[in-house]
Amino acid sequence: MSILSDRINNLAESATIKMAKLGRELAAQGVDVISLSLGETDFYTPDFVKEAAKKAIDQNYSYYTPVAGYPELRKAIATKLKRENNLEYNFDQIIVSTGAKQSLANIMMCLVNPGEEVIIPTPYWVSYSELVKVAEGKSVFIDTTIESNFKITPEELEAAITPKSKAFLFSSPNNPTGSVYSRDELAALVKVFEKHPNIYIISDEIYEHINFLDKHVSIAEFPSIKDRVIIINGLSKAYAMTGWRIGYSVSSKEIADACDKFQSQITSGTCSITQRAGLSAYEGGLETVKEMREAFLKRRNLVYDLLKDINGVKVNLPDGAFYFFPDISSFFGKAAPDGEIIKNADELALYLLNKGHVAVVSGDAFGDPKSIRISYAASEIKLKEALKRIKQALELLKEVKYVSAV
Ligand code: PMP
Ligand code: GLU
Repeated sequence: MSILSDRINNLAESATIKMAKLGRELAAQGVDVISLSLGETDFYTPDFVKEAAKKAIDQNYSYYTPVAGYPELRKAIATKLKRENNLEYNFDQIIVSTGAKQSLANIMMCLVNPGEEVIIPTPYWVSYSELVKVAEGKSVFIDTTIESNFKITPEELEAAITPKSKAFLFSSPNNPTGSVYSRDELAALVKVFEKHPNIYIISDEIYEHINFLDKHVSIAEFPSIKDRVIIINGLSKAYAMTGWRIGYSVSSKEIADACDKFQSQITSGTCSITQRAGLSAYEGGLETVKEMREAFLKRRNLVYDLLKDINGVKVNLPDGAFYFFPDISSFFGKAAPDGEIIKNADELALYLLNKGHVAVVSGDAFGDPKSIRISYAASEIKLKEALKRIKQALELLKEVKYVSAV
């Protein structure tokens, strides 16, 4: 019998992080592994942000910060929301944390009672359903398909709502599919939320700047539901600051105060140096972000062409983020050169790692067992080589010919 709590025994390890770990372990044995597993840009943090951090160290920003973040940083985020998203918030509605992941955890713990339902369209980012579990809530999934670009309809949303629904949780641009909801599509969902005033809308906008269609639209821009929207965002993607650990939530003051209280008991304010660096990022503008988006657009087009060229892979063109989520289920039931049968996406991802030396993530943990996630946050040279390896490895999978025993 395990000495550990049921809570931790029932929790899955983050699949993205697990796959990155397996890739690193193989690379440590001297294998030339290309990692397309972790959703992390390969760009460096902008120089002006690094300079601000160095200055902060010299200026002795080394003490505990307010739990919710330095007021000047929270004010800079409020200014960013006005400038970039045309959204009006007071700085005390913004709670800075150690990352968007922690902000999501704060919100789950502050909002969801045991047994309450959180509606999540699939595929979803791996941590969503697990965080709902930690809060003892119940995830209610709305399945989508590649044919509809992995987007839900208002009818599907309506059908998922029950008297126990507490929140709706989604990301646009989406991880893992790259799908982006247009203003019209969001407006149609808003009409449904207007009929259900007790549901909170948690909008994960961490990929807002990696949008190839248009300017980002936040669902908080719809005044009829704005006071029920909780925006989750951070600097990990926009400013290539994954390791610095900084994110934030934007919500009603009541929810913000609850997050502040929760954070005061589990982590306190995030790193003082990181906060000063984050302040400079928001004061510094979007030039580096634009360069990054252009590079991602070129990479997206490159990977799309290469994926379309592989027999048996079904793929759509994502409008944002830096992921492809191809359906690879046509390979299930086929045999690898060593005779092993590939039964599912988990096994296919492991096969691609061990045979092709490319790390990708199985769709299973994203709530879609037919697909794999490929992160294209890597150089074009690496992407070309990785896609060549994936193609070769998939071409080695053969139909199994059953021989009758009689
Ligand atoms: N939400 C989504 C959709 C993500 O892909 C990620 C991964 N970076 C996060 C939240 C968490 O980001 P952070 O590094 O800010 O914790
Ligand atoms: N969000 C990234 C991903 O989806 C980083 C890994 C993680 O935090 O799970 O790969």
